[in-house]
Amino acid sequence: MSGPRWMSDPCTEDEFREHWQRFLKPDGLCLWCRKPAADGPCGTITIKISEEAIDNGEVFTHQFCSWECLAHRFADCAGGVFVHTDVNTAADLHNE
Ligand SMILES: [Zn+2]
Repeated sequence: MSGPRWMSDPCTEDEFREHWQRFLKPDGLCLWCRKPAADGPCGTITIKISEEAIDNGEVFTHQFCSWECLAHRFADCAGGVFVHTDVNTAADLHNE
């Protein structure tokens, strides 16, 4: 699975515009799962990205409801897929 489910493929021009609009004017919804970001387990996580090359250094704001959604987004941006590994399980595997 890659990309949020709500981003249909191919996305319409309206969807695309709305998508970018949200970066400039956050609507309080998680960028990844589209749930209200403030309802998440650790409140709203806000990421600001200054895009020097686009729109004269406009700052894009991304909001996430949880670290997990943020991790999914980061992994996606990095060209991969977020795989959650339980720390205890990882330690067990290491000991074998
Ligand atoms: Zn989320």
